[in-house]
Amino acid sequence: FNVPVAKNEPVLSYAPGSPERKELQAKLAELRAQEIDQPMIIGGKEVYTDRKVRMSPPHDIKHTLGYFNQGDASHVEMAIDAALVAREKWANMSWQHRASIFLKAADLLAGPYRAKINAATMLGQSKNAFQAEIDAACELADFFRFGVQVMTDIYKIQPESAKGMWNYNEYRPLEGFVYALTPFNFTSIAGNLPAAPALMGNVVVWKASKTAVYSAGVIMEIFQEAGLPDGVINLVFASGPAVADIVLTHPDFAGIHFTGSTGVFQSIWKKIGENIYKYKTYPRIVGETGGKDFIFADNTVNKRALAIAMLRGAFEYQGQKCSAASRVYVPESIWPEVKEIFGAELATVKMGPPEDFTNFVNAVIDEDSFDKLKSFIDGAREDKDAEVIFGGNCDKSVGYFIEPTVILAKKPDYITMQEELFGPVLTVYVYDDEKLDETLDILDKTSIYALTGAVMSQDRYNIEKITKRLENAAGNFYINDKPTGAVVGQQPFGGARGSGTDDKAGSIFNLLRWTSIRTIKETF
Ligand code: GLU
Repeated sequence: FNVPVAKNEPVLSYAPGSPERKELQAKLAELRAQEIDQPMIIGGKEVYTDRKVRMSPPHDIKHTLGYFNQGDASHVEMAIDAALVAREKWANMSWQHRASIFLKAADLLAGPYRAKINAATMLGQSKNAFQAEIDAACELADFFRFGVQVMTDIYKIQPESAKGMWNYNEYRPLEGFVYALTPFNFTSIAGNLPAAPALMGNVVVWKASKTAVYSAGVIMEIFQEAGLPDGVINLVFASGPAVADIVLTHPDFAGIHFTGSTGVFQSIWKKIGENIYKYKTYPRIVGETGGKDFIFADNTVNKRALAIAMLRGAFEYQGQKCSAASRVYVPESIWPEVKEIFGAELATVKMGPPEDFTNFVNAVIDEDSFDKLKSFIDGAREDKDAEVIFGGNCDKSVGYFIEPTVILAKKPDYITMQEELFGPVLTVYVYDDEKLDETLDILDKTSIYALTGAVMSQDRYNIEKITKRLENAAGNFYINDKPTGAVVGQQPFGGARGSGTDDKAGSIFNLLRWTSIRTIKETF
């Protein structure tokens, strides 16, 4: 069980004039100057179709990055078959050899592929350099390195043996294939969802989000260069329902690793239930879905710290993190001062394309998202129970730009205090200082999701009380910080209620789901 001790990949600063910035800028220019034809990768082979779908940067919709090859049901079947063929060898390969592939993939990400994966994420998903760095380069490398360490921690878990016998656990891969369905918002999650089951000896059919194909292609390139055998992870691009119809009715379907919307996850559970008699084994269902994450402040809070947590928590990556702070509870007595500090900080924030490194806010992912966000902002403008107090401008003439927006909710159950918008829209509810307990009750009651949350206070009794009172309202809870930015190996990530199965990405709790244990007792 001698594996390298996992350490978090150091985050580079991309300061003006730094070598990493120069390299990244050169890579951005190189990718912009070409048009790629991204194939699916099935059984290690490039698969092209005659349905080419155009890819463009969300912040520059007239520019063409290239095309991806859209598949159909037949490609999904091909991917399952390729996975099952690969399984014969992969499932029997020793863990050291599986581990070394992912350790090498981590080194490729942190080294020769760092600029490429970051540039692909910046252009394809409209993410600024720093946000791309903490996601695509660092977090994905962390997922691989910590994954390897955690895998060996699992293998070390062995039962006791009484006299005259020997008991041991054998950690087998699941009997079948795993389906990885991945989101656009984190390149690291897109890479980890297929990688975690594969590391544990499983074979995978991976359907990437259609709005993050560009970086998914780079991840696949890295897997192949790291030596992942053909067919272990198969990358397909096809419509969700078409894939689901085939994957979720297949007798060898053994599990799903999902990050995406609550609605899609619920429909997957339903379909699995309907097809339960068809499977060889009960499928593992692991998913992270939505969030409506909060910051709750009391009147002892450090006001500047609160304003900064609001700004960063709500607007980094345009609020398109499941963990984004999208509702804030602030006591009446301090709100005017917090609002002033926040407003002054917000005025320094620039919005535009990520190729200009001074832009903090870039575009939202696509037109559907833009239209949805705009309709909520327009709705708030017209509603007597709400007021748009910062931002609110939306413009899709060049790219899908939504200005960082703050809505003041006059009622704690106003729609944007409950509904996940997935964009740069923060809703603030100002509560009567005397009604802290009632406000906590409302917060908990309106938490349909329970992914992340934060308490901000300098009163230790309040911190303790609020942390306890909100114990079921978040799977990742922060004391005096924004509720985003969980780091692999430091804050295992995931939540319950409408937010998912809380299997904690990148941790032992997640990897345990990708193994099926055989316990052997030998009597002497
Ligand atoms: N792990 C990320 C964070 O803590 C969020 C992941 C997500 O959006 O799904 O900010």
